[in-house]
Amino acid sequence: MATKEFKTESKRILDLMVNSIYTNREIFLRELISNASDAIDKLYFRSLTDNSVGMSRSDFAIELVLDKAARSIIIRDNGIGMTYDELDRNLGTIARSGSGEFVKENELSDEIDIIGQFGVGFYSAFMVAEKVTVISRAFGSDDAFRWESDGAEGYSIEPALKDKVGTEIILKLKPDTESENYSEFLEQYRISNIVKKYSDYIRYPIKMDMEHSVPKKDAPEGSYETEIVVENTVLNSMVPLWKKNKKDVTPEQYNSFYKEKFYDFAEPLRVIHQKAEGTTEYQALLYIPSRADYNYYSKEFERGLQLYSSGVMIMEKCADLLPDHFAFVKGLVDSEDLSLNISREMLQHDRQLSVIRSALEKKIKAELVDMLKNDREQYEKFWEVFGLTLKFGIYQSFGANRDQLEELLLFRRASDGKYVTLKEYLEAMPEEQKYIYYAAGESFEKLSKMPQTELLRDKGFDILCLTENVDEFLMQVLRTVDEKELRSVSSGDLGLETEEQKAEQQKIEDEHKELFDFMRESLGDKVAEIRLSNRLKSHPVCLSAKGAVSIEMERILRAMPGNDQPIQAQRVLEINGSHKIFEKLTALWPDNKDTVAKYASLLYDQALLIEGLPIEDPVAFSNAVCELMQ
Ligand code: ADP
Ligand code: MG
Repeated sequence: MATKEFKTESKRILDLMVNSIYTNREIFLRELISNASDAIDKLYFRSLTDNSVGMSRSDFAIELVLDKAARSIIIRDNGIGMTYDELDRNLGTIARSGSGEFVKENELSDEIDIIGQFGVGFYSAFMVAEKVTVISRAFGSDDAFRWESDGAEGYSIEPALKDKVGTEIILKLKPDTESENYSEFLEQYRISNIVKKYSDYIRYPIKMDMEHSVPKKDAPEGSYETEIVVENTVLNSMVPLWKKNKKDVTPEQYNSFYKEKFYDFAEPLRVIHQKAEGTTEYQALLYIPSRADYNYYSKEFERGLQLYSSGVMIMEKCADLLPDHFAFVKGLVDSEDLSLNISREMLQHDRQLSVIRSALEKKIKAELVDMLKNDREQYEKFWEVFGLTLKFGIYQSFGANRDQLEELLLFRRASDGKYVTLKEYLEAMPEEQKYIYYAAGESFEKLSKMPQTELLRDKGFDILCLTENVDEFLMQVLRTVDEKELRSVSSGDLGLETEEQKAEQQKIEDEHKELFDFMRESLGDKVAEIRLSNRLKSHPVCLSAKGAVSIEMERILRAMPGNDQPIQAQRVLEINGSHKIFEKLTALWPDNKDTVAKYASLLYDQALLIEGLPIEDPVAFSNAVCELMQ
């Protein structure tokens, strides 16, 4: 008989399980029962459209057998079963399962924690078993196979006999040692407690023979003699978690259900459990995760909620239940009002579904608002992971979702780096401040040092720091908040001067028109304009942009793939009229044109550097600086 080797990534998980010193090993049972239940789901679903299954809802069950003499536990289901290939593929590799994704994403460093926090799947059997045997017969096949492994070396698959469709898993427990006790898993009360703890909601009966002691039959009157009877007992209540009353579910139960069901190892931030009654009845159990799936921000990410009809899953990812801007929510919806055999196309037009969808949207929104108000720390954590989704929600709907989402936005403010909502920003604004200011750039650190912000900061006007690509585009969609206009610190008029000051500035500009014209021409088409600045204090120059496209937006558009000729920002070189450099320029003009041209080029390069943009000719720049130094 040939022994096959486990695939590499499976080996790592397997090693972890075999050598586990994790105290919470009991979860192996949860994992195997959940697999059995999944397998039954598949066959039951099949039976709805395929008469050859020949089984009804009440025929399905999971059976547990404890065999003390053989030191083994058997977990048996009459689900869909596995073919030879499926045994090979599903149990030889950690395929698409939760644990597989997890291994891909993480270096398994803090191993013990991982087992505790995460549904580790089939291989968790090796935490307690020295040998695992799986005998399975797939639906539609007459052949059965035995898969067997002792963990380390690999596994074997050979033909076997099994008269019914389904899967039987036999765990040969490890021997007890001085410090480790495995025999406890042969005790019926221990097993029955584990089932209640983790698998109570499983919708099929989990049956086990239980010994009860009862008063002895035919015993003489007055005698207290008892006898042991064996009763086949259903261990679980079979009420799905979401059908229970909130008060009967503990936070641990909500969380462990989440982790197992949605393949996460981190606790969710929030749980939303809703039971709606009325014209459309449904139960929803939703979670706001605390971290994003590894592919969340990629095209591969499939959003959606699980859809159940009367306790039976009919769709794994129903995208129509969630708006795009809440794509991060995980969970499920169960409604009796939906037909079991409904197709994807029909669902899209289902009225019930759209009623549920808008109710859920409201509920999620309310939960986020509550988090923002009452648990700011948690909300900021949420924001750092999923804030982008909300911003895109406004931007991509061209503002249609604005009412829904605007109050959920957070921005870092320049004064202290803290997050503020737009409302908080408005409330903190000094009376004379006309606009809401923002600065866009790579990082908060860079933005808070921008020369363009110096005067504003002097006046005690705060600035929203935008560091994500979508931010400036979002500002274009928002435009105003509570009638206050949003203004970039590097474009247009900042509204800081009085009319007189403006006139004064115009006068100076007119006086030096020839100088500015000359400088602009000497810079070629690099800048559209040179003007006196109204936003600088200690710095000699800065760049700004005329028109709708800012320099930051140009940078983003440039970086987008396939965008060879992006719209360019019309650059403006602003010169600080009260800086020594300006004095120097006016002194040089008009007798030393060559020097003025050199200075113009240097100043432009300096402005680029401050802006974090590359200078076109670094060698020329360096030479010009050296020349000055000599
Ligand atoms: P997951 O359940 O997350 O997919 P597991 O490691 O628990 O990962 O199981 C791996 C795969 O093995 C399952 O996806 C399923 O295809 C198959 N499997 C496990 N147990 C059974 C079973 N009792 N009946 C049928 N298939 C099973
Ligand atoms: Mg599983």
